[in-house]
Amino acid sequence: MRAMVLQCPHQPLQLLDVAIPAPTENGQVLIQVEACGICRTDLHIYDGELPHPKLPLIPGHQVIGTIAAKGPHADRFPIGTRIGIPWLGRSCGQCPYCLANQENLCDNASYTGYTLNGGFAEYCLADENFIFPIPSSYPSIHAAPLLCAGLIGFRSLRLAGANVKRLGFYGFGAAAHLLIQITRSQNQEVFAFTRKGDKEAKLFAESLGAVWTGDSDETPPQLLDAALIFASAGELVPLALQAVKKGGSVICAGIHMSDIPSFPYSILYGERILRSVTNLTREDGLLFFDLLKHVKIETKVTPYPLDKANEAIDDLKRGKISGSAVLTL
Ligand SMILES: [Zn+2]
Ligand SMILES: [Zn+2]
Repeated sequence: MRAMVLQCPHQPLQLLDVAIPAPTENGQVLIQVEACGICRTDLHIYDGELPHPKLPLIPGHQVIGTIAAKGPHADRFPIGTRIGIPWLGRSCGQCPYCLANQENLCDNASYTGYTLNGGFAEYCLADENFIFPIPSSYPSIHAAPLLCAGLIGFRSLRLAGANVKRLGFYGFGAAAHLLIQITRSQNQEVFAFTRKGDKEAKLFAESLGAVWTGDSDETPPQLLDAALIFASAGELVPLALQAVKKGGSVICAGIHMSDIPSFPYSILYGERILRSVTNLTREDGLLFFDLLKHVKIETKVTPYPLDKANEAIDDLKRGKISGSAVLTL
């Protein structure tokens, strides 16, 4: 099969002809890949910012494809079922986190396109217990970004708590543009904070139904119930804390963030909560894709053929892509 392979961080991916992997482990399935999204986490892997990736590695953790073959005891889905493979490839099921229903924090987890081969290839293996059926109303290329940007956004929203009406989004990119379509369906109001003077992002947010847009250091007209930070700028944390009401939450949705500047305790006081989001659980995925049967999310994608993965990565690095980059097979 054709695969784009990372031999070593800081090097371009190589297009190689490699053997189709066989599903030999219990519960393992072989997926014929149709589309695979590219996200910022992939860039962190290429840049060596995530330690100890499997090498050589086939990256890609937003994989949509169909089940082509099944290993022993794999009987959850019939052959031909279209599924999505997310970042959490497998958790151990035995550590204190797994036993406490926090498999997203598992100490011994495996990650698709990082410690396991991912979807930048014609075929890919997966554990059938960690994949999600994809609603038929979503073409594969449009479903791919939902597996990372969509799912992490959804988990952030869950962590923001129930009965949240007014939400601040700091950074209006791939995750925010998907999530606002869910919040809109739940009658929640989105206040979009963008980089200073970024008119384009503000218009984009407004076109998707944001009730207010402003620069990230602006004060919203009303205090927010929660704020989700999608950008990696630590200086947004004190700004977001000042924008949420007492008891409100500030959720940092990214893997990396620059240092958070010191801030007066008074802006945290009032039982405001500051927390991060790490990975996802299967429950997040099942709830999310179940919701998508009823809520149609439009995803904006820029497709690239598999062998143009390096070009797609460069375009993503330079901010040349609006919406999400997706490799098509
Ligand atoms: Zn575990
Ligand atoms: Zn991702």
